[in-house]
Amino acid sequence: MRIGLTGGIGSGKSTVSALLAERGAVVVDADRIARDVVEPGTPGLASIVEAFGSGVLTPDGALDRPALAALVFTDPAARRTLDGIVHPLVRARGRELESAAPPGSVVVHDVPLLVETGQAASYDLVLVVLADVETRVARLVRRGLTAEDARARIAVQATDDERRAVADVVLDNTGTPEQLAEQVDRVWAERVIPALG
Ligand code: ADP
Repeated sequence: MRIGLTGGIGSGKSTVSALLAERGAVVVDADRIARDVVEPGTPGLASIVEAFGSGVLTPDGALDRPALAALVFTDPAARRTLDGIVHPLVRARGRELESAAPPGSVVVHDVPLLVETGQAASYDLVLVVLADVETRVARLVRRGLTAEDARARIAVQATDDERRAVADVVLDNTGTPEQLAEQVDRVWAERVIPALG
């Protein structure tokens, strides 16, 4: 079974992903893959250098993320070029990791940009973690971000309504971690176990 898990930054998506892993799911982490596919020596990094020049490399040949971020931040065409390189690589690697999971596994794809990249239809079940913006900002500040940075990141992501529109199940994480865990238990018992037959 393929589950897609998403939520805005600070919503609690990683927390849900860990809870699902505890229950036996194999988690495929798109953020992690997005870093792996542009490591030095990868075709991904070569394509980025071809598109943007060697100015996006650090002196030791790794991807200079701040330099690349500055390039694409104000240039939508450059952003599309970058996404066109990275997103297909992430999807392909995600599929590969999924195929490597034992037969009958519950595979959870943890995809921050699931809504933004229009992938909802490719999953058997889409879980969306929601928490209101103020709660998310407070949590991100506790994690070390400035409130301004947290708000800026939230502002460029999909909205809660856009996420709700693709959700099979919404997990409400405005409450305590225990309340979140109860909802994950319910989804596991009512939507995952029955689907495994
Ligand atoms: P995301 O992966 O969506 O960015 P995280 O799961 O990392 O979000 O959660 C953001 C921060 O909020 C983390 O520091 C996490 O420990 C904390 N957190 C998550 N859920 C709750 C909750 N229900 N109550 C308090 N803090 C929480």
